[in-house]
Amino acid sequence: MEHGMFRELGIEPIRRTTKRGNYRPHTVLSFDDHLFAVDTTRSFKNEPVIPDAYLITHAHSDHHGKSAMLSPDSVCSKETALALEMRFNKEYKGHTFEIGDTIDVNGVEVSTYPTHHTIGACAFSWENSSGTTVAVTGDLKDFSHLPKCDLLVTEANYGDPADPSCYFEDDVAGLEQVLENNIALGAYAFGKAQRAVDIIRQSGWWDEISMDSMSYRLTKGLMCDCGPLKEILEYNAGHSTITIVPPWDLNKLPGNMKKYVLTGRQDYYYPAINISDHIDVVGLMNMVKELQPEVTLIYHPDGHRPLKMAEHLNRVGYSAIALSELM
Ligand SMILES: [Zn+2]
Repeated sequence: MEHGMFRELGIEPIRRTTKRGNYRPHTVLSFDDHLFAVDTTRSFKNEPVIPDAYLITHAHSDHHGKSAMLSPDSVCSKETALALEMRFNKEYKGHTFEIGDTIDVNGVEVSTYPTHHTIGACAFSWENSSGTTVAVTGDLKDFSHLPKCDLLVTEANYGDPADPSCYFEDDVAGLEQVLENNIALGAYAFGKAQRAVDIIRQSGWWDEISMDSMSYRLTKGLMCDCGPLKEILEYNAGHSTITIVPPWDLNKLPGNMKKYVLTGRQDYYYPAINISDHIDVVGLMNMVKELQPEVTLIYHPDGHRPLKMAEHLNRVGYSAIALSELM
């Protein structure tokens, strides 16, 4: 596919480079007289491309809010701003909104939609002066709230149709089955830990849950109905409740606890329960079918999966390109 496709839509993805010529993460969308960065680090003053807004879809590190949050031109949901401040211990300097709000970003009307990937995760959508509608998804768990669009800018974390690990369903029943006192769940502090608490509470378990300090603060600060939580101050002391810590800290807990990792991966020492923050390749394909974009640009993550998904989309009749294919 030629870049002419983007020119016709009146919106051009740009990749910023470092002084050494390496590509900076993610992309800047150029349209009319605007440059909207999507999930990138901040520009330095002497860089050729200085975005007029930094859209931050959510607070995971590989979406670079840690850097963008220090710009007054950053834009993210209230929960994402809070999560960034808690995770990185810095003050968020930009603009915030409630997910679902339509906001003014430098004169452009931008709509926002939940994606249920993490607390605060959201998609952005706007129209340029030639009537092209763009939707930027960030990482996704659920696309059902997203609008139809002409240009879809999305992820492919599990986008390789030839890879069996890109097909999965959440094993909520599997997690519910193991819930009892004195078990430990390995879950990343931001995203997975809150999903675990949500599933545990929905299953009717309202006893105290013990969590490592970061998970505890994030869950308490971001979830309004998290129920009773307790911060772990000493790992090797006995924990008679359900305990949630990052996967790499499970071995610090007493040996008599039953331990599980909430993951789709199979390379952990402890048994895995498949609970994912993402949709699988079937979900990604269904999203493209549903939103009917003229072009899909796959901007995340690094690695080969965006290219694999773009190739597959093109094969089945949807125009798609991976960011790595853009010069
Ligand atoms: Zn993410």
